Amino acid sequence: MDGKKHIVDKFGRVHDYLRISLTERCNLRCFYCMPEEGIQLRDKAEFMTAEETLEIAKTFISMGVKKIRLTGGEPLIKRNAEMIIKALGQLPIELTLTTNAVVVDRYIDVMKEAGIKSLNVSLDSLKEERFNDISRRGYFTRIFDNIALLLDQGFDLKINVVLIRGVNDDEIIDFIEWTRDTALSVRFIEFMPFDGNQWNWDKKVSYNEILSAVESKFGDQFSKIEGKPNDTSRNFKLNGAKGSFGIISTVTNPFCDTCNRIRLTADGKIKNCLFSQSETDLLTAHRNGQPIEPIIREVMLSKEKERGGNGQFDDEMVKSMKNRSMTTIGG
Ligand code: SAM
Ligand code: SF4
Repeated sequence: MDGKKHIVDKFGRVHDYLRISLTERCNLRCFYCMPEEGIQLRDKAEFMTAEETLEIAKTFISMGVKKIRLTGGEPLIKRNAEMIIKALGQLPIELTLTTNAVVVDRYIDVMKEAGIKSLNVSLDSLKEERFNDISRRGYFTRIFDNIALLLDQGFDLKINVVLIRGVNDDEIIDFIEWTRDTALSVRFIEFMPFDGNQWNWDKKVSYNEILSAVESKFGDQFSKIEGKPNDTSRNFKLNGAKGSFGIISTVTNPFCDTCNRIRLTADGKIKNCLFSQSETDLLTAHRNGQPIEPIIREVMLSKEKERGGNGQFDDEMVKSMKNRSMTTIGG
């Protein structure tokens, strides 16, 4: 440890990874994440300005945060995203982002200047028509070209694929085949329940199912990659492949034991867990000149052991759960 008073919860988990949502808005409308009409517009004053985002980020860094991920909504459509990325790039952290890659080509130089080395890009299908249906827009080709551009420019890429039964679960093998000759990491994510996203238990594709599809196709022609303690995915590689693949099983097999994440929403609320049903307003406190460090410590001390204290996910539990959609929390 480096002498800072780290953010520790009552289970001894050290929280050194902050995910900041830059905006709730998005240029796609993935049906599992965003309503077709978009999210309800709110007064601009309710959201953090670029300066406030930086000031609050600096407080977290002074408390031991070592990694910041920018997310959203789509972080790269935030006005001032360029300024925020460059300024965060000056700070002593690993900076990264999660994007749908629609406009990422405009940020190549900015990201390099900020020292960003790796990105997560979401792509739920390798079939143009299907992807455009899922995202309710027509950007497949642009995204695919931008993925090639990012690889060409030397960025490490993780491709996030949310698997949903009857929608794209027939593409597991195609995605893995992509990693044979392309040096990227595909990560299959179990479909997670949020307010109004039509989740039900049968629509998620579980860790075990994904692994048995892989085993029946590839037999022993793949192996497990040993992970790091805070990894959220369990990772594998086809023998001789340039890339790898992994499974993020938040629903059936969560990784709460080693969770080191804190979330800050675009309107300046801190959430101690993706599934926590409560959130605490840091932005108002910050605007009132109140120190936010004690608030952060208190919120993190109240973090539940697993899944925001919601227990096992099932259809009944999900019906009673109140939680914002991923786009307003920041995925
Ligand atoms: N717009 C950016 C993107 O799509 O990469 C960043 C924000 S998005 C909310 C972050 C990640 O959350 C994406 O990979 C997306 O697929 C994932 N996501 C959104 N809703 C989800 C859900 N219900 N279950 C699982 N993953 C979800
Ligand atoms: Fe936008 Fe990302 Fe949500 Fe899709 S998953 S609607 S790209 S925020």
